[in-house]
Amino acid sequence: MRVEEFRTGLRAWLDEHDLSPVHDKSLDGDMAQLSRVRRALFDAGWMRWGWPEHAGGLGGPTILRAVLGEEVATRGLAEPGIYSLIEVLAPTLIRYGSPELLAFVPLLLSGEETWCQGFSEPGAGSDLASLTTRAVRDGAEWVIDGQKVWTSLAQYAQRCLLLARTSGPGHRGISAFLVDMDSPGVLVRPIETMHGVDEFAEVFFDGVRVPADRMIGAVGQGWEIAMSILPDERSSCFWHRVAHLYTRLDRLLAAAPAGSERALGEAFLDLHAIRSTSLRTQHRRARGEPLGAETSIDKILIASAEQRLFDTARDLLPGVVEYEESPWREEYLYSRAATIYGGTAEIQRNIVAKRLLSLGDE
Ligand SMILES: Cc1cc2nc3c(=O)[nH]c(=O)nc-3n(C[C@H](O)[C@H](O)[C@H](O)COP(=O)(O)OP(=O)(O)OC[C@H]3O[C@@H](n4cnc5c(N)ncnc54)[C@H](O)[C@@H]3O)c2cc1C
Repeated sequence: MRVEEFRTGLRAWLDEHDLSPVHDKSLDGDMAQLSRVRRALFDAGWMRWGWPEHAGGLGGPTILRAVLGEEVATRGLAEPGIYSLIEVLAPTLIRYGSPELLAFVPLLLSGEETWCQGFSEPGAGSDLASLTTRAVRDGAEWVIDGQKVWTSLAQYAQRCLLLARTSGPGHRGISAFLVDMDSPGVLVRPIETMHGVDEFAEVFFDGVRVPADRMIGAVGQGWEIAMSILPDERSSCFWHRVAHLYTRLDRLLAAAPAGSERALGEAFLDLHAIRSTSLRTQHRRARGEPLGAETSIDKILIASAEQRLFDTARDLLPGVVEYEESPWREEYLYSRAATIYGGTAEIQRNIVAKRLLSLGDE
């Protein structure tokens, strides 16, 4: 399937099949809407293009997934952050998982299941390699003890892509598992964000028994697996988010008073910069080029474009952020997280300085 053929067919199909949100604006509502959209797109085949056939997809270039996400975001069919989580977890499982584990992928693509990413811990965020959740082998099972935090959507998830320590310190001692969230010993405690949504959670693992065939890849391969997520997260996911941000720029253009052109132009330029950079990243990925430290530039650009956009809304529409219970307020507050999740702004700048500009450690 070629990109233009896919886009034209998809748009015609979406014009005929109205998937506009029918649920109330809440996290429960967003999750129900996401499942509805995924189910319909999966049954019609759109959700399966760009995913390999051996994982339940229909094949074709991965860029088709970016085109689909762009269309979903532009039409406001699903909340882009939760829609894109699939791009963080499924490609990695497909790359490293056994055929038995790959059988779970269609459940995710079709909206039947939600998965979460159990990486961060109270003492291990930027310094992820210091994580302490332990997995100890006991016959045909691993027994997991520890705590994760900031786990997005954990309270909705059926599975967790979990990193745990299977041997000594450092990144070589880390392994990855696909854990059933209804296993005895898993406790999920949602945390409310400052924009008033229980988007993430603390997750406790107390003697959780996981069958050995739920390990993703080999013992000690967890770090490599975690690092392999970045190119996926920073190509399709960012493309979806940029499409969403353009819809907000359009709203701002419609609402801003006369004389706002300069501020709007600056917000547009930031968005244009990340869209152009992201387009290049998509094409590099499509050509099979390895993506590495340079995707930190994409991360820096998207986080600053998002924050600039909502800062501009705050400045041009006085009061919408401070005093009103408006969508601007919620999105403004959420945009503050853009310089934290998926690698903080400081860490990305360190990577650019050290690995791309060879500026050394200081
Ligand atoms: C909305 C949201 C959703 C998230 N979802 C998930 C999820 O689903 N799964 C998951 O595992 N995690 C998730 N996270 C967690 C996220 O990955 C971590 O917040 C992030 O890795 C930073 O870790 P930390 O919060 O422990 O901060 P820390 O690593 O403690 O950093 C604190 C501050 O110190 C700075 N800092 C740290 N080290 C350095 C250094 N060497 N040089 C310069 N500055 C430094 C950081 O930039 C930051 O400003 C989510 C976070 C958010 C905000």
